[in-house]
Amino acid sequence: MNDDDLKKKKIRAGIIYAVVVIVLMILINQFMNSMQTKDVLYSEFKTMVSEGKVTAVEINTGSGEINFKVQGDDYKVYITDPTEDLTTVTAYIEKYKVPEYTGVTTETNIWLSLLIQWVLPLLIFAVLWRFLAKGLTKNMGDSMSFGKSNAKIYAENETGVRFADVAGEDEAKESLVEIVDLLHNPQKYTEIGARMPKGALLVGPPGTGKTLLAKAVAGEAGVPFFSMSGSEFVQMFVGMGAARVRDLFKQAQEKAPCIVFIDEIDAIGRSRDQSLSTNDEREQTLNQLLTEMDGFDSSKGVVILGATNRPEILDPALLRPGRFDRRVIVEIPDYPGRLAILKVHAKKVRMSDSVKLEAIAKTTPGASGADLANIINEAALLAVRKNRKMVEQWDLEEALEVVIAGNVKKDRVLSPKEKRSVAYHELGHAFLAHILPCADEVHKITIIPRTKGALGYTMQLPGEEKYLVTREEMEDQIAVSLAGRAAEEVMLGQVSTGAANDIEQATTTARRMVTIYGMTDRFDMVGLESPSGQYLDGRPVSNCSAETQTQIDQEILAIIKKQHQRAINLLLENKEKVQVLSEYLLEKETLTGEEFLRILAENS
Ligand code: ADP
Ligand code: MG
Ligand code: ZN
Repeated sequence: MNDDDLKKKKIRAGIIYAVVVIVLMILINQFMNSMQTKDVLYSEFKTMVSEGKVTAVEINTGSGEINFKVQGDDYKVYITDPTEDLTTVTAYIEKYKVPEYTGVTTETNIWLSLLIQWVLPLLIFAVLWRFLAKGLTKNMGDSMSFGKSNAKIYAENETGVRFADVAGEDEAKESLVEIVDLLHNPQKYTEIGARMPKGALLVGPPGTGKTLLAKAVAGEAGVPFFSMSGSEFVQMFVGMGAARVRDLFKQAQEKAPCIVFIDEIDAIGRSRDQSLSTNDEREQTLNQLLTEMDGFDSSKGVVILGATNRPEILDPALLRPGRFDRRVIVEIPDYPGRLAILKVHAKKVRMSDSVKLEAIAKTTPGASGADLANIINEAALLAVRKNRKMVEQWDLEEALEVVIAGNVKKDRVLSPKEKRSVAYHELGHAFLAHILPCADEVHKITIIPRTKGALGYTMQLPGEEKYLVTREEMEDQIAVSLAGRAAEEVMLGQVSTGAANDIEQATTTARRMVTIYGMTDRFDMVGLESPSGQYLDGRPVSNCSAETQTQIDQEILAIIKKQHQRAINLLLENKEKVQVLSEYLLEKETLTGEEFLRILAENS
């Protein structure tokens, strides 16, 4: 049902209501009048006075009416219109000795009674109508039109959150600053003809402050904040979610500039062709969302922010330019980030001066912002429980255990020993990437656990776009992949499970060198696998006999062995450098490419 229909319905109901009220009021008035007053003829009045039945008389010199009471009928007032002038009436009353009589001159009295009898009830009915009308539209909305959802849309005019409340996450904040600017003065962008970004997607593990950041953007820009969670869109009835989306955008556009925030967007934005079971409702909702995002005019200053911790399952249509064309990565905080977050939250509770937040920040790699906020709060609760006025260091330490152990997130926080092992592992990758001529430059090394299973990672930056890869480059790639494990062996003398991914990668590359790219002497340029089939089940199709397969495996083994040994040798030669680097990495948890090079330069 659309809005016009709804309006018409409302008007019709209003008219019917008004007629009913007026008829009712006339009836009530007449009934009340007949209960309280009785019109009589003047002659009757005279008879009653002469018979001595009248106990009190009130002559209204203003309206010329006589009101009187009769014996035994106290609740009723008799009214009559005298046909004689009032002095004659008075003389007549005196003659028969009516016990009480007075004269009044109020004419306003009529207005007052009019007010009490008509206007006041009308007002009461009007107020009642408003309540009734509200209930009516709500009912219609819920049961008939699946339309309005005003009650559910969560709009805040002022979120009260600023960027200063979000600690760390500098990169994320930086990329959101532009959106704040855009909301402040959209004309600056339209003048130059720039197309405004319609939306940004905040991506990151749970509890890293995505929701907080979205609120901070609204707070900084001073615009209203509409927020809804993806799961709220997915309703029981097909079509309801779509209606909600429509409604949300309609309301937002009326309030532009503003921010529309869709939390947990993966609930609706899941890739449409991924699941076998169709979900009509979700699909419709997603389609509506896509349509709305295309439809609205971003120059008015409506910016859509989405948040998810599972970007990989989102429908590609959502991510293409013109929709969520920006991606803001919100990461698990590193040591400085953790310290900053602890400080932000520590401000809200009374802390003893002796508290060292650094110690807490140090021992919590892998903890999210929400975990850290929780630690502070838990510490405050502990202090209260122990009747103390301030939070002390040991409260924090106890809280740390409660939060980390109480949550299943324990697996994300590494022990110092594991941390050291991860540091060596990552430095192994990084160091090999650095000294091998054909490997890509090191961009970033981190030992902050990620959600996707990796305990750390080394990011390499490809120098230039490559279409051809040489044999040397492939060998170096393999060596870099294997260097993680090699470093564990060289530096610690023990191996861990942390190399599973590396092994898979190295093996895949080696296999390709043998079977597809013809890079071995034994097989020369024989195509042993055809890559064309890889879309069918993800595996290349084998073109050779079982014996050849065995030989392929031997070749792969040889390549891997050679590169593994190469990595070990290189690391052995540079053991001290790796050791120095590892101290830095353990301290800072993240090293940029430049820092890595600087430390190397300083220590050679
Ligand atoms: P997400 O939406 O990413 O799951 P939230 O934004 O809901 O996480 O964060 C939950 C809480 O954790 C916040 O209300 C805040 O108290 C705290 N928090 C998370 N990250 C930060 C941060 N970077 N700075 C300050 N507080 C944070
Ligand atoms: Mg959230
Ligand atoms: Zn590795």
